[in-house]
Amino acid sequence: MPQQAQAQLTSAIYIHIPFCNSICPYCAFYKLPWSRENEVQFLDAILKELDFYKTTHPNIQVTSLFIGGGTPSALSVDILDPLLNALHTTFDFPSGIEKTCEMNPESIKDENLEILKKHGINRISMGVQSFNQTELTYLGRTHSIQTVFDAVEKIKHHQFKNWNLDLIFSTAPSTVESLTATLKTAIALNPPHISAYSLSIESGTAFEKRNIPWPEDDPDKAQYDHLIQTMTDAGYHQYEVSNFAKPGYECTHNLTYWTLDNYIGIGPSAVSYYNGYHYQNPRDLAQYINSPEPSMPAEPESTLSQLNDALTSILRLREGMDINRFNARFNIDFTKERASELSAMRNNQLIEQTPTHIKTTLKGQLVLDSILERLIY
Ligand code: SF4
Repeated sequence: MPQQAQAQLTSAIYIHIPFCNSICPYCAFYKLPWSRENEVQFLDAILKELDFYKTTHPNIQVTSLFIGGGTPSALSVDILDPLLNALHTTFDFPSGIEKTCEMNPESIKDENLEILKKHGINRISMGVQSFNQTELTYLGRTHSIQTVFDAVEKIKHHQFKNWNLDLIFSTAPSTVESLTATLKTAIALNPPHISAYSLSIESGTAFEKRNIPWPEDDPDKAQYDHLIQTMTDAGYHQYEVSNFAKPGYECTHNLTYWTLDNYIGIGPSAVSYYNGYHYQNPRDLAQYINSPEPSMPAEPESTLSQLNDALTSILRLREGMDINRFNARFNIDFTKERASELSAMRNNQLIEQTPTHIKTTLKGQLVLDSILERLIY
């Protein structure tokens, strides 16, 4: 990676907190059960990684911050506070940028909300998953529905105006009726943003080992159609396959990933994409603690690989691809080079194409992987 001593470059920052109070059987993120010993060693390592960036990348201006995991709210406040202090002395954070912290309902407390507020965190993303107790039990979630209501009260009491609820649908017990009830309760709480993902059985998870069956449709089309209709009727704009926002509340951090702008990932398993260099920290806490400085690849990622990453991300966005911008970035003529594939997709109502943009239709979103298979280089 080149040193950036002169020009000021921009980047989003992601911090991965790998601890959870309990482990959910469907989860494929890098995480482990919280322990005091581990969080103390983790803080020490992350301070070293931040020192590395302070020395080697002194001029980065942050465009957004996302503290994710794992469960960041599982951290003790005497770890969270110095971590956020160090972060803010390492990078330049312009005022007013989006700063998100993921939290679980059962670990949202006045104490951690106060620390977040003190450091200017202005967005909370809460893992709720469902307002149906049978579905919560199936997903191995330990919080109750009342805990979510109490957590929302706390978020509002501490005057976080921007917050998100994460939901999961298309699980074995979920139906259009149970999704209707979950969405009705979620919308009544009036969050500015809702993410709703269909359950996928990921490799290496407890669900995969238990041979948990897939729902009959993948994802359940009736539930997905219902989700989009309900969210649209309630005034939320679908700006990505799984993400819905009230006007002005789209998550700018996630848009960084989807449009392949720079991002730096800090902590075990975190991925970075910076100035064309793509690298990942070890997906193992002990290894990360032993060697917290990122190991950079010798060469930037190939243009072909960057092109395919960009294509995969951009077609997830509801606004789709800006054809001229994409062509200019990769020095190609996309609509000419993929003319026959695009024509077949238009005829099958999988995409909409205008002179300036290509975007997937609702029908196309359900078969996005097949669309990408035909379009990648
Ligand atoms: S889903 Fe969230 S709370 Fe559950 S194990 Fe994964 S990171 Fe932890």
